Amino acid sequence: MIILLSCTVQGCEKKSLYVPEDAKFEKNIIAMDTYMTLTAYGEDAEQGLEQAADRIQEIEQVFSVTDETSEIYQINHRTAQEMEVSEECAKVLEQALEISTQTGGAFDVTMYPVVREWGFTTGKYRVPGEEEIQELLSKTGYEKLSLNHRTLTLQEGMEIDFGGIAKGYTGDEAVAALKKAGVEHAIVNLGGNIQALGDRPDGTAWNVGIRDPIQSEEMFGTLQVSNQAVVTSGAYERYFEENGVVYGHIMNPDTGRPADNGILSVTVIGDKGIICDALSTAFFVLGLEGTTEYWQTYGGCEIILVTEEKQVYVTEGIQDKFQLTGDYGEVICIKKE
Ligand code: AMP
Ligand code: MG
Repeated sequence: MIILLSCTVQGCEKKSLYVPEDAKFEKNIIAMDTYMTLTAYGEDAEQGLEQAADRIQEIEQVFSVTDETSEIYQINHRTAQEMEVSEECAKVLEQALEISTQTGGAFDVTMYPVVREWGFTTGKYRVPGEEEIQELLSKTGYEKLSLNHRTLTLQEGMEIDFGGIAKGYTGDEAVAALKKAGVEHAIVNLGGNIQALGDRPDGTAWNVGIRDPIQSEEMFGTLQVSNQAVVTSGAYERYFEENGVVYGHIMNPDTGRPADNGILSVTVIGDKGIICDALSTAFFVLGLEGTTEYWQTYGGCEIILVTEEKQVYVTEGIQDKFQLTGDYGEVICIKKE
């Protein structure tokens, strides 16, 4: 989860003196179980914000797993193995599958039956037995799913959920709606998934606060971004505790259990929210080593990763744009080999 530093933060207010107050517009909405704040500047801002909010609501309508009228619900309650899906659904699924392949299956939209049995969708948290987990895993696996243009084939019992990718995609679409309306400077905060359009009206970068995964009401660092998405995955976002063990909501597709690979939180920064979102979930599963290996192979994003040992790793491309403010010692740089 990320918080956008408000302009009351010292140093930030000074830089924004050039922006006339009446040029700033804000819209708050609740969608996807998330409190969202959209901020835009300029004469097209009000109209742009309306259109961005409409677009968010439209996407929620398609991707909700619980709304009986949503497309995902229809897919999960299908009567035939093969079906035609909307262009929007196919587009997100295609991107999800690509990341699944690149991350060796760490990101997998078919984990839904497992996520649900652990209680993360219902709030009825419990630790399923090993036999039950194995049975559930027989209904998962992105490689068992096939997508041919808009024709989706899912084996019996399989279900999909875009919980790990939808908000990133929504950020992309909200920003696209603002841009289409003529807005040049905006920032959307979808419950911690940040997406910036351009830079601040005075030409400086946006200051984004990255949430401290231990003191989750605090921030542990700030990051300067322009025209980019900043997406974080962390166990602190949703978890339950049983017999002193903490179980988080991101599942390891290999084990059917919450990912437990030594990471407290991982933030991905890049041009496309949809990719950053899928990758942040995948990196949480992969751990430091797997994430480093991915990044050195594919690149395409920057990363801020916090380990259980309270070590902060940052990829070299954003080293000078990130300032550690929390009690975490030194920042360790991940370099291209
Ligand atoms: P995020 O906060 O983006 O990391 O997404 C976490 C959400 O994605 C969970 O609440 C689940 O709905 C879903 N999910 C859990 N494990 C995975 C996984 N390995 N791959 C893809 N989605 C997942
Ligand atoms: Mg994600």
